[in-house]
Amino acid sequence: MSEQKKAFEHVIRERWCKGCNICVAFCPKQVLVLRNGKVHAAHPDQCIGCRMCELRCPDFAIEIREKGSAESLGRDASEVDYAIKPEAHQ
Ligand code: SF4
Ligand code: SF4
Repeated sequence: MSEQKKAFEHVIRERWCKGCNICVAFCPKQVLVLRNGKVHAAHPDQCIGCRMCELRCPDFAIEIREKGSAESLGRDASEVDYAIKPEAHQ
């Protein structure tokens, strides 16, 4: 029996995003890009919900939610697997 893949949404507060590229660089799945100086989820279906982007953003400009949920996944950094390697630099 195959496990259903979870889907995630990216809540982006464009006014807070300064286009620093940190989230883009840390995303292990290359989901994010900068577009006109703001972050944009170009490949949302590739997102694994690791929240690396959310926790690394210095401006709280991006938040990850499970699709269909109005609630944030939380901001507990201890839940994040920091061993996941960013692919953007490879
Ligand atoms: S939650 Fe993880 S996989 Fe999804 S966009 Fe953020 S860093 Fe990338
Ligand atoms: S880390 Fe934050 S401020 Fe920097 S590009 Fe990403 S969302 Fe924007």
